[in-house]
Amino acid sequence: MRKHLICGTLFDGLDETAKTDRTVVIDDDRIAYVGPSAEAPDQRPGEAVIDHSGDFVMPGLIDIHVHLSYGDAQANEDIDIFSPPEYRALRALRAAQTVMKAGYTSIADPASTGRTTVGVRDAINAGMFDGPRITTSGRQITARQGLADWYPTWIGVPESSVGVLVRNTDEAIEEIRMQVKDRVDFVKIALDGLHRKDSDGELMACFNQREMDAMVEESHRLGRKVITHARGREAVLTSARAGVDVIFHAFEMDEEGLDAMLESGSVLSPALTFVANTAEFTRPTDPCFKWRPGQNRRVIDDAREMLVKAREQGVPFMVGTDSGFAITPYGEWHAKELELMVDDLGFTPGEALKATTSVNSELLREQDDVGRLVEGAYADITVVDGNPLDDIAILQKREAIRAVYRGGEPVDLAPEPRASGYQWEYSYRQWNDIYTRERVAELH
Ligand SMILES: [Zn+2]
Repeated sequence: MRKHLICGTLFDGLDETAKTDRTVVIDDDRIAYVGPSAEAPDQRPGEAVIDHSGDFVMPGLIDIHVHLSYGDAQANEDIDIFSPPEYRALRALRAAQTVMKAGYTSIADPASTGRTTVGVRDAINAGMFDGPRITTSGRQITARQGLADWYPTWIGVPESSVGVLVRNTDEAIEEIRMQVKDRVDFVKIALDGLHRKDSDGELMACFNQREMDAMVEESHRLGRKVITHARGREAVLTSARAGVDVIFHAFEMDEEGLDAMLESGSVLSPALTFVANTAEFTRPTDPCFKWRPGQNRRVIDDAREMLVKAREQGVPFMVGTDSGFAITPYGEWHAKELELMVDDLGFTPGEALKATTSVNSELLREQDDVGRLVEGAYADITVVDGNPLDDIAILQKREAIRAVYRGGEPVDLAPEPRASGYQWEYSYRQWNDIYTRERVAELH
């Protein structure tokens, strides 16, 4: 049965401006018509008419950086060690549903515990559960001293980690082939390593160019895109030269890295939300208070100039938040990234909305079928009370999300109560200070 959505304002995801007096006709789970209301197909008897004539209608939002298996983690140990993978899968399903209730009908998960997100994706696609459309990697591939190899060498990278350690190119190729066999949608490589031991102290890449070239070539041969975690100058340059599809963060990119990106056609996705939230919300009682907020404030200040330049020179941007940490809990901050892109990077609201819909969709399994309101696409739609082109921050207001449709079906927006943490989810840390006699005397 068809549904007729009468739209006050319509943003189709492809154009950076909106149009008024439009109608969307949904047939089953796809869009059958989108265009002027005056030219819309007639309503047949019994067909539903949904009045959004006072609202802003846009494609379902997309966040390409949601770590579904992290569980709003408070520590790296929460991500990798505490709670068994089976529990994490169930928790990830709940997380995915929470994100959808915020207006996000599609997400990508770059770095997950084993096959956790693959399982959640397939269960939702099989119609067992409600949830957003999911595109996912497996564990992120790392080398010695890279991101995810964050425990002491004698502990290593455990099987339950969101990362997987490879010791040479052969192991990397084997891992990629196994992940592809296990049906990941793309490959994620954690490329930042340690800081260099010199005055600059810049981040070194944990894989060299030859290794990256080989991994990207094999992933592409097997039809999978590659995303890198690359904050450092060297990681950005190495990624771009290897032809990586999407580069995350790029906070320390230099001119050479930008030129390489322009040449390779790599897409950039900064994920400023994680950094901004860390700078804004971390409190003195948090173990990372001494270093992290100040460092992250500097990260944004230092990165801004080159990120603005990248946008001006035509590097495409995708939009993601690094959700799944205690500082970026599921369902809460996804649209903040758009506000940061507008305020800090010079995007117009229309550009930012296009980036988070049709540009983001290029990474997804469904590609051209989502992120746009055009005939034939899935009827994934987010309806806003207010105009985000005038005020992009409105998308962060839960009460402004009037309706969400996933494949033409309305999503229940009533928030689930936030589940209380399971005991296994917490690390062992019990004191933030060392209470010597001297320290106790100081404190009292
Ligand atoms: Zn991330």
